[in-house]
Amino acid sequence: MQGLMQDWPLLCHKILDYAAQQHGRREIVTRSVEGPIVRTNYAEIRLRSLKVAQRLARDGFREGDRIGTLAWNTARHLEAWYGIMGMGGVYHTLNPRLFPEQIVWIMNHAEDQALFVDLTFMPIVEKIAPAIRSLKKVIVLTDAAHMPASALTNIVAFEEWLAEADGDYAWRELDEKAACGMCYTSGTTGDPKGVVYSHRSNVLHAMIAVQKDAMGIGSTDAILPVVPMFHANAWGLAQSAPMIGAKLVMPGGRMDGAAIYELLDTEKVTMSAAVPTVWLMLLQYLEEQGKKLPHLQKVIIGGSACPRSMTQKFRDDYDVEVIHAWGMTEMSPLGTLGTMKPEVAGLSGDAQLDIKQKQGYAPFGVEMKITGDTNDEKPWDGRTFGRLKVRGPAIARAYYGGAGKDQFDPDGWFDTGDVAHVDANGYMQITDRAKDVIKSGGEWISTIDLENLAVGHPDVAEAAVIGIAHPKWDERPLLVIVKKPGREVTKEQILAFMDGKIAKWWMPDDVSFVEAIPHTATGKIQKTTLRDQFRDYRLPSP
Ligand code: AMP
Repeated sequence: MQGLMQDWPLLCHKILDYAAQQHGRREIVTRSVEGPIVRTNYAEIRLRSLKVAQRLARDGFREGDRIGTLAWNTARHLEAWYGIMGMGGVYHTLNPRLFPEQIVWIMNHAEDQALFVDLTFMPIVEKIAPAIRSLKKVIVLTDAAHMPASALTNIVAFEEWLAEADGDYAWRELDEKAACGMCYTSGTTGDPKGVVYSHRSNVLHAMIAVQKDAMGIGSTDAILPVVPMFHANAWGLAQSAPMIGAKLVMPGGRMDGAAIYELLDTEKVTMSAAVPTVWLMLLQYLEEQGKKLPHLQKVIIGGSACPRSMTQKFRDDYDVEVIHAWGMTEMSPLGTLGTMKPEVAGLSGDAQLDIKQKQGYAPFGVEMKITGDTNDEKPWDGRTFGRLKVRGPAIARAYYGGAGKDQFDPDGWFDTGDVAHVDANGYMQITDRAKDVIKSGGEWISTIDLENLAVGHPDVAEAAVIGIAHPKWDERPLLVIVKKPGREVTKEQILAFMDGKIAKWWMPDDVSFVEAIPHTATGKIQKTTLRDQFRDYRLPSP
């Protein structure tokens, strides 16, 4: 017997229809690439997205076409996304921090037909456009007055192009399983791999994200997504914010402490999301300027491990709750969030930080398990490490073109490549990337734990740990440190600070001070490059 309920396809543009109808006047505020702060709302965004769809269709773009975007978080970028999706296209976000050759490779692999680009990135596009075989049109997200001179043909200013449409367009009726978005993962080895989101997965992901025990957002929130739309789907905020009618504050190209603080303050932002490096800059700015955060209630921090000291500072000095989150581009991207279950809600002080330092637990829609080398399931005891595997309706079942097949188990689980343990309450803690974990005497040492501890030292700006070959133990940890500007600290002082806070055999064998630690295009520590830099390094003899 079948249920007798309606077949209402889960399509992304329905989110925007809803936002325009129920929350039409809610503001979307942007620090524009041209400079000024500009204001629009969900009703206007919907109308302009319809125009984008109409205009794309008139230019001959068709269902399934991949359309690139190389842009900051702005209202125009949102309009491009929804317009592309609404005419059946696939938005393909490109990370401008990649090398131009990588962007060319990715665009050719995805066969992008058109490209929406911010003024900031025009120099890149001038250089790479001729190498992209499928590219038919470049739309610059600006108006005629700001249009730069260009050697490219078939290039147009967004506002002029849009003015030729009236928005009298009906969203395409699509299968909810149709592709709507694409994002390549920034793998540190091998070619990038394309993750392809569907309308259904994006809608379900947004419904998962907004829940009280996940991001916990609603119509009275003002949300500042610092996490870029080109990084892991902006953690779903481009769908989840309109789904509940929250005000959106878009930071454009400026993510320095002063710029973020200004938006948090003037727009009365209640919730924000970003990687730890962004918060490091903000906290430094607040400290220097003696500013407070009276409106901000919580920040979602993920992308790489959030240091305990950061969670503590937000809590104790600014009365802001940190929600540590873990996810992956392949997971749309949310996997776990560190909100408090009743089992731990009453904790305070250090005991609360112990839980908040973990990456959190999985909401409905994300199943997870940890396994050993023979795919044997490991217990949830808060100690035993294993490879973290996941499955769910917003998790990839394959990469575009069939790449990376070995990450998908035949029984439907996706191998994240992360190593983690899970405690009896379901809280997961990432201990490493499988390829970074240090194997010492047959046991594993978590580089993330050591890094977290080291950055807690008041003179340390950033820390990274890599394994160095050792004749007896296989590998031993080397701690690499960037000091805070103007501070002095010795190896002995760092080791004394760490002593007693971790197992003796986890203590780094040496500390090396450097000017800078290399990062990937998504802001993670680039351990492959760091290991290369220390290729000839030898540990001191005991
Ligand atoms: P990306 O797809 O670029 O977001 O990268 C996903 C990877 O980032 C994960 O597989 C983790 O290795 C890492 N990651 C994301 N969030 C966290 C976190 N909160 N703590 C530690 N690692 C994280």
